[in-house]
Amino acid sequence: MKSADIRAAFLGFFESKGHSIVPSSSLIPGNDPTLLFTNAGMVQFKDVFLGDDKRPYTRAVSSQRCVRAGGKHNDLENVGYTARHHTFFEMLGNFSFGDYFKREAIFYAWEFLTSSECLQIPAEKLWVTVYADDTEAYDIWAKEVGVPTERIIRIGDNKGGKYNSDNFWAMGDTGPCGPCSEIFYDHGEEVAGGPPGSPEEDGDRYIEIWNNVFMQFNRSADGTMNPLPKPSVDTGMGLERISAVMQHVHSNYEIDLFQSLLKAAAQETHTSDITNQSLRVIADHIRSCAFLVIDGVVPSNEGRGYVLRRIMRRAIRHGHKLGQTQAFFHKLAAALADEMGDAYPELREQQAHITKVILAEEEQFAKTLDKGLTVLEAALADVKGKIIDGATVFSLYDTYGFPVDLTADIARERGLQLDMDGYDKAMDEQRKRARAAGSFKVDYSDTLKLEGQTEFDGYKTLQTKSKVR
Ligand code: ATP
Ligand code: MG
Ligand code: MG
Ligand code: MG
Repeated sequence: MKSADIRAAFLGFFESKGHSIVPSSSLIPGNDPTLLFTNAGMVQFKDVFLGDDKRPYTRAVSSQRCVRAGGKHNDLENVGYTARHHTFFEMLGNFSFGDYFKREAIFYAWEFLTSSECLQIPAEKLWVTVYADDTEAYDIWAKEVGVPTERIIRIGDNKGGKYNSDNFWAMGDTGPCGPCSEIFYDHGEEVAGGPPGSPEEDGDRYIEIWNNVFMQFNRSADGTMNPLPKPSVDTGMGLERISAVMQHVHSNYEIDLFQSLLKAAAQETHTSDITNQSLRVIADHIRSCAFLVIDGVVPSNEGRGYVLRRIMRRAIRHGHKLGQTQAFFHKLAAALADEMGDAYPELREQQAHITKVILAEEEQFAKTLDKGLTVLEAALADVKGKIIDGATVFSLYDTYGFPVDLTADIARERGLQLDMDGYDKAMDEQRKRARAAGSFKVDYSDTLKLEGQTEFDGYKTLQTKSKVR
């Protein structure tokens, strides 16, 4: 089953159950300064859940483009390392705004996955989780759907207290949230990993395919949880993950959507092994970069633009790692338009623009990439222990345009970490020098601020939470 057919089947199934098909919204959340990028299907419905916006329907279904490259849901560091995480992906979702609740949501999901009219996934390959104290959801799965209790896992308070666990979904630090019930697919014993809730759950064997969130609360900035006007449902299933299941492959990178991208990337970088990790990163990143450009983001030194720059520079660096010294990344916009242009005509309409924006970034980074890598290699040759010194990390950032996460990415490949305390110190000294010189042109404290938003903490996390990474 092709990805496009799965997408169509999902929309059609829920339409037949009285859901209105709603088009994907922009990756830039409209009027929501708390969120960096649209990271789930529910984002465009946030105000509907809160009761502040009314729609002519109480049931909706969508295939939403999502980016998770910063903020609460950030998978940038997972790309290239897991078979299931992308910076850009499509989320299939059905929604109930005060209409149906747990029982119907669970039954719909099960029917779509297992029935002979739909995906026909063998039931014994599926595992489910429920929030620790959600007996209602547990009983629906066990007694009504008939999932054997060995494959129903309660997950919750073990990971940092009530309402703060994997089975309590939240869009961001504030906003609609609630307990959830997730469905996992077992890719079989040839893949490493353990069932949800086990110490080995982080592998790619038991892959989470679908999250059913029972939206019940609105979390405010001070942490209080207020009940929503009406209990609602928000679900999300990664199209690429369900495609891997339906196409009988164990990695998202082996599904149809990625084949021509990987081939184009291989051709541009003269790489023969299509499973090469850098190729996968490049194929992933062209999707997020192109879609972000379509939605109006351009590479810059702050906020959303800086996240885009970070993604682009990572892709460019991976090309360089494959021996590519000429600009190559922009050329992949054509392969992407061929692959996804039917579903997203903007890719064709804006192909020239996307190509131009990426090429400009490649040309700019080309000016410093080689020199920066030489500096980094010298530091690596000289490294004491497992930590790259903060002054080098800062100079790579400040002089050579290496975002810290890019340096960290290279370090990780060598099993090394960055001295973030030293980096902070070097940054402080630079700021003092700039002030002493009366130059306020570059405000280093401001480079990553997104106006009014509270959630984007990708960089702050680097600097304050994990001092060494
Ligand atoms: P995981 O635990 O695997 O990181 P998640 O719990 O963060 O996933 P949700 O926020 O529950 O994911 O999102 C709903 C669904 O979207 C997931 O069940 C999965 O199918 C899909 N999904 C989430 N993150 C990604 C990603 N980075 N790339 C591709 N698909 C994703
Ligand atoms: Mg995740
Ligand atoms: Mg999860
Ligand atoms: Mg989840």
